[in-house]
Amino acid sequence: MSEAYDNDRSYVLHSWSVQGKLSPKVITRGDGVFFWDENGKRYYDLGAQLVNLNIGHQHPKVVQAIKDQADKLSYVAPQFAEEMRGKLAKRIIELLPEEFGKCFFTLGGADSNENAIKIARAFTGKNKIITRFRSYHGATYGAIALTGDPRRPPVEPAMPGVIHCFDPYCYRCTFGQKPESCGMQCAEHIREIIQYETPETVAAVMMESVTGSNGILVPPKGYMERVREICDEFGILLICDEVMTGFGRTGKWFGFQNFDIVPDIVTMAKGVNSGYVPLGVVAVQKKIADFFDDAMLYCGLTYSGHPVSCAAALACLDAYEEEGHIDNAARLAPVQAELLEGLKAKHPLVGDVRSIGLFSVMEMVKDRETREPLSPWNGAPGLMAEISRRFDEKGLSVFVRWNYIFLTPPVIITEEQLRDAIALMDECLTEAEKVILD
Ligand code: PLP
Repeated sequence: MSEAYDNDRSYVLHSWSVQGKLSPKVITRGDGVFFWDENGKRYYDLGAQLVNLNIGHQHPKVVQAIKDQADKLSYVAPQFAEEMRGKLAKRIIELLPEEFGKCFFTLGGADSNENAIKIARAFTGKNKIITRFRSYHGATYGAIALTGDPRRPPVEPAMPGVIHCFDPYCYRCTFGQKPESCGMQCAEHIREIIQYETPETVAAVMMESVTGSNGILVPPKGYMERVREICDEFGILLICDEVMTGFGRTGKWFGFQNFDIVPDIVTMAKGVNSGYVPLGVVAVQKKIADFFDDAMLYCGLTYSGHPVSCAAALACLDAYEEEGHIDNAARLAPVQAELLEGLKAKHPLVGDVRSIGLFSVMEMVKDRETREPLSPWNGAPGLMAEISRRFDEKGLSVFVRWNYIFLTPPVIITEEQLRDAIALMDECLTEAEKVILD
């Protein structure tokens, strides 16, 4: 084994893992939609790392911008004005609806969400936050409290004042309904929760505009609009967590743009500079920005608006725009969806396909009638390991969680690469099925 591997195993603690069971690949090189391990094996990066490397590996413009900014001014503290920081804030506000006014910069998704909550609480003078169960908003203490998925309970007690609601999960509707006739109880029960909690205590509803790591739950038509209406009825802010859905992932700049809504606050990270250096953003409407003209903003981070991160983001936004990558994601969206539907038609283990832009999941089941998950929710990988192992053998890096197989490639992927990668996934499913269905 290499020194890199030995050092890792001896000294590095990895996220979300029982450490003794790990045997991580050593990655040495990346280029576009591919990366290579230390043995020279090539992988299709079908998860875009952690659904953040939207622009792909080693984009020359972004790499150059980082070098240039490091040469010019590597760091200046947040209390100063700086060229890249100001330019990026302006650029992001210009991408958002006209109601938006200013940005607060952070280092990633979790602290964007935590700062959004502080801002919402200060602006409304209220304290409770409603988020959904099938959600992930980050792992720091406040953000994990917002998170509804089962990564939260083991670290409780977390930040108080968060109330969780159910999800628009039509394939497994909590309310036992069919989409055609459900009356959208998943939205209506949020209204009921607000009434029980009393509207005077609820500051904000925070949601991923399309649920990401909890299974790509694309909200049914009218859901986000109804949530917006409910928030307006009670003077509650709507915060869209666009950490995963931002910057082309859903075929638009932001996921919420797939719906007829304007959020009050938008949080971002990941795709803003494709993760080449850490950066997060909290963008707020003018009414909220103006409030802080006279009120203290109780938020601060040593690396807020780091010039190198902001320079990387500006270059990344240039690349998205000039090279047409957001349009590419929109153009390839139906291709990806159709290819995955093709896998569903062929493979009985695929129970459901959900897709928007280049943001897709195949939900794997033992039986299409009963919809029993192929591996248990929040349990051991079980039979899903048969599939994951084959992806790995064929050089496909795919995010697999519970009974979900995600497909979230860099938005720069070509149609030829997408078809090739999904053909390889098809082979893997065929081989795995021989074992699983036997
Ligand atoms: N919000 C969403 C929707 C996410 O998917 C993630 C990370 O995957 C986060 C927040 C947390 O971001 P970070 O890991 O940068 O703190």
